[in-house]
Amino acid sequence: MATILEDHRDEALKWVSSLLENATLDENGCCVTAPTTRQKVRFRGGQTASYRFVYSIVNEEVLSHDEVVRHWCHNPLCINPAHLEIGSRRENKHDDWLFAAYGVDPMCL
Ligand SMILES: [Zn+2]
Repeated sequence: MATILEDHRDEALKWVSSLLENATLDENGCCVTAPTTRQKVRFRGGQTASYRFVYSIVNEEVLSHDEVVRHWCHNPLCINPAHLEIGSRRENKHDDWLFAAYGVDPMCL
């Protein structure tokens, strides 16, 4: 990912804009990818989740294995850069517990 940011940022940004163009804007302002599964991006031999790719490129941040990209909108299909924030795996688990506590299945949102 570091080399992508250094050497292929323009190309990566084009990828990000085409991902966003092909996404559907819902009533919450989420850019939702289709079909309704978590999309993976293949880029320069690597493969990563779309929202992770978008976050990393837009924010010029190289993510470590322990860092997860969280959705504050709680929509796992959303790739809107404004809805994404960085967190640790532990925080992400905490989100899951909140869902469990309030009886909301994140996959149904
Ligand atoms: Zn969203």
